[in-house]
Amino acid sequence: MRPEALNPLFAEVETLDGVGPKLKKPLERLGLSRVRDVLFHLPDRFVTRRPVASLDEAGEGENIVIALTATEHRASRNQRAPYRVFAQDEIGNVLALTFFGRASFTAKKQLPVGEKRWVAGKLERYGDMLQMVHPDHVMEQADASLVHLNEPVYPLAEGLTQPRMASLAAQALDRAQALPEWIEPGVIAREKWLPWREALVAAHKAEAPAARDRLAYDELFANALALMLVRADNRARRGQSLQGDGSLRDRLQLPFPLTGAQRRSIDEITGDMAQESPMLRLLQGDVGAGKTVVALEAMLVAVEAGAQAAMLAPTEILARQHYDTLRRMAAPTGVEIALLTGRDKGKARESTLLGLLDGSIDIVIGTHAIFQDTVGYRNLGLVVIDEQHRFGVNQRLMLTKKGRRTPHTLAMTATPIPRTLTLAQYGEMDVSRLDEMPPGRQPIDTVVVAQERMDEVVNGVARHLSAGQQAYWVCPMVRDSETADIAAAEARYAMLEQRFGDQVVLVHGQLKPEIKDAAMERFASGEAKLLVATTVIEVGVDVPAATLMVIEQAERFGLAQLHQLRGRVGRGSEKSVCLLLRGEALSETGKARLALMRETQDGFRIAEEDLELRGGGELLGTRQSGDTPFRLATLEQIQRMLQMAHDDARLLMERDGGLTGERGEAARLLLYLQERDWGVQLLRGG
Ligand code: ADP
Ligand code: MG
Repeated sequence: MRPEALNPLFAEVETLDGVGPKLKKPLERLGLSRVRDVLFHLPDRFVTRRPVASLDEAGEGENIVIALTATEHRASRNQRAPYRVFAQDEIGNVLALTFFGRASFTAKKQLPVGEKRWVAGKLERYGDMLQMVHPDHVMEQADASLVHLNEPVYPLAEGLTQPRMASLAAQALDRAQALPEWIEPGVIAREKWLPWREALVAAHKAEAPAARDRLAYDELFANALALMLVRADNRARRGQSLQGDGSLRDRLQLPFPLTGAQRRSIDEITGDMAQESPMLRLLQGDVGAGKTVVALEAMLVAVEAGAQAAMLAPTEILARQHYDTLRRMAAPTGVEIALLTGRDKGKARESTLLGLLDGSIDIVIGTHAIFQDTVGYRNLGLVVIDEQHRFGVNQRLMLTKKGRRTPHTLAMTATPIPRTLTLAQYGEMDVSRLDEMPPGRQPIDTVVVAQERMDEVVNGVARHLSAGQQAYWVCPMVRDSETADIAAAEARYAMLEQRFGDQVVLVHGQLKPEIKDAAMERFASGEAKLLVATTVIEVGVDVPAATLMVIEQAERFGLAQLHQLRGRVGRGSEKSVCLLLRGEALSETGKARLALMRETQDGFRIAEEDLELRGGGELLGTRQSGDTPFRLATLEQIQRMLQMAHDDARLLMERDGGLTGERGEAARLLLYLQERDWGVQLLRGG
């Protein structure tokens, strides 16, 4: 159980002063449900504001404090458009104060027409108008807090203000007590790092690179340690050596020769399976790289050796798809393959369960239902997990406890991530890479086009549609606010609908599932020709007749994301095209990134170079959610400190007695604090 010292940090965020039902939603959006989460919610930046008497004195992009008098409130009929309050400075310059979503309610109260207010925020230009989006402060009297030096600016969600967030952070810090040191003393001394609590205080108060490094390091260290515990536990388990005689594999009649990468991966896997200690291997390969055949060969090895194999898919649909494919491919071998999902009930389910128990079923494909307690195996020798990233390694690894002897585990993922991040995600798991595509793929023509040439692009889409083909149109993430993004997508949809009528459908994250599904359905069936979407289409759509992809403001996307998006086309036999629209002010890095997309379709190369380019300082929004299992550590910090954290974790495990002893106890606290306690639980579970 969680050490008591941490309990105050795991209290619900509602226990902080000022958190009522109204704040629940924005806090949830930010992932802040417990005090601990608030502690680790660090400011994005710090601002120092300059008081100015008039807008003439201020530069664009500058943070200022200024006295303004509201002249007019203007709400748009379109609910999604921003709410604007026009205001004048002392000499009559006009400025728009712009509010999205619910912030307009506050604006109405705070900025009555004809009254003077002190407003603090960042001056921007929007078209030919000066504006301030969501001012940080609006006050009746100027007070010292307005010209605060180094005020933290926290990432916010609608309904939350900077002062409120700062108050929550201060309260969370009050609840944090000093904790014993878990980092190796030599490392602390060398890096001149503060103790944990002091580092937190420092990181909330100012740009404190060393403090941030320390906190990021904690995260990396906890992760490395947990993965190492899992690995050590796995090594200590007894598995079974599975050596096939080739009898089943010889009977496979594949319609194609295996690629070199497939053969190499199969060799690596069979090599592991022949060992008595259980395999823990990741098979990485882009969509279409041919992972399924590799999995099949591995499963046949298990069956040849007299054991059973189970394959776990993330969804019901994927489980069915695999079942059909594998049954077709494996037909000549005569192995018995079954499907088991949560939907199976009654007799059919009973008979599958019986078959697994008596061994008449050799291979089972299914969703997590295949691991329920009621499912017993005669001799489970291999577990294959498809699309690893959707599960989270930890839980998955624990699942492999099924059976008297620990089965071998093969995890498969279609996300080509760079080697550094592989280490971060999977620790020292062994990795096989399918870095060679099967022959005969149609390359996708990728073209970078300036956004101003929108008319030509739309005409191109028109030609494409009238030739009977389908297309995707992806709208970008523009601001921090999801609502604003969706407004942009809706505006684009309205424009395209005007041109193409009801051939166009719109899909985004705030639509009701039925509506979204219906739109997708119309597109997949070919009834609708153009799908306008925010990035929700990234996952799980397969429409081979869609051969054109337009991505707006492509420079705002991560390369890995662009790669995934582009992977939606080029699935049929027709030539596919991807148009990357770029904004005007494109940096050198931005140019290099788009050029890379044009140049290659190799997911691994894209992932590596993306990390290089982003790690090199220009971090788009610094933290790219989903890329890494970390909350604090940036890509740059990961690259710089991950190896160090691994070495430190290894020292603790091999020299310093693991989780026993003084530092070990502290490290145990850290594992809980960082929610890597699955590492500890695994040890206890034995
Ligand atoms: P993924 O890695 O995305 O799971 P699949 O295993 O579904 O990829 O394979 C994609 C397609 O490529 C399938 O139709 C499969 O039959 C085919 N394929 C796999 N290996 C080869 C190969 N060596 N040569 C030609 N086609 C192959
Ligand atoms: Mg697959």
